[in-house]
Amino acid sequence: MQLLTGAEVAASVRERVKKEAGMFIASTGIVPCLAVVLVGDDGASRSYVASKKAACEEMGFKHIDYHLEADCDRAKLFDLIRLLNQDESVHGILVQFPLPSHFEEYAVMEAIDPAKDVDGLNPKNLGKLLLGQTSLAPCTPSGILQMCDYYHIKTSGRHAVVIGRSAIVGKPIASMLMQKDRNATVTICHSKTEHLEEITRQADILVVAMGKAEAVCASMVKPGAVVIDVGINRIPDASKKRGYRIVGDVDFDSVSPICSAITPVPKGVGPMTIAMLMSNTLSACTMQHGVMQ
Ligand code: NDP
Repeated sequence: MQLLTGAEVAASVRERVKKEAGMFIASTGIVPCLAVVLVGDDGASRSYVASKKAACEEMGFKHIDYHLEADCDRAKLFDLIRLLNQDESVHGILVQFPLPSHFEEYAVMEAIDPAKDVDGLNPKNLGKLLLGQTSLAPCTPSGILQMCDYYHIKTSGRHAVVIGRSAIVGKPIASMLMQKDRNATVTICHSKTEHLEEITRQADILVVAMGKAEAVCASMVKPGAVVIDVGINRIPDASKKRGYRIVGDVDFDSVSPICSAITPVPKGVGPMTIAMLMSNTLSACTMQHGVMQ
């Protein structure tokens, strides 16, 4: 069994982005700048935002931080996005999801200028992705494909089963895997799928993005399959100082002995998401200044 260490792949992506950013900054004097917007005080969101800001600093990017109250008026967030869309010194806009329930996330995705949409969630960018056109693509699915490339995992002609149909992971990874550069045969499952286990057992590549701790066990996996675990779940653990530990959507202990390759949680897909955000931020900046990467 091969461990697909996202942390290792992410380090190589970050090294590439840092090098390219350095050359871009040296030749143009323009420093890529990411606006990071956090609404509310969700613990996991705060920690993701902190990691994203630290990554910007490592890349030599600027970041501008905004923290709005959880009960802030919807207009306040949309006014801020409008200002950031207009600000030429800001190249990427990241609004950390999930948002408090009085916000419609789709409306927020739509409000961000597609050219600055480093999360790749604006309908124009998602539409381009579906059509197989170059776009700023969602970071987690892009990161999964980078990992497949890094570890020479063949997708062409193979049956990929995706559990989950969110706009941020399930739908875009399914769409990317079916494009003509990947050529997988894709099945998408969700909470209303019947006979889930029968379907997942057919997967050569199983991508799990359910948000359910350790829900995929060995009986759901074909021996020799590649298993990509996107899940990040906190479960109580009194033995840990912080009172919880992080697990994926896959029961690693039962699945890892039977599959050919698997991503661990943590240090699997998670680090790739941030690395791809850095890559998208640089791409957004260079494209806004007429340089294609
Ligand atoms: P969502 O909650 O938006 O989507 C979960 C999907 O799983 C839904 O489509 C849901 O179906 C489906 N699902 C839920 N229960 C079942 C079930 N019993 N059987 C089959 N399908 C089921 O989650 P996200 O896509 O945003 O995230 C998924 C996981 O990935 C989470 O743990 C999240 O924390 C993690 N994540 C990790 C990232 C990373 O960088 N590693 C980035 C983004 C997310 P239905 O549509 O019918 O409700």
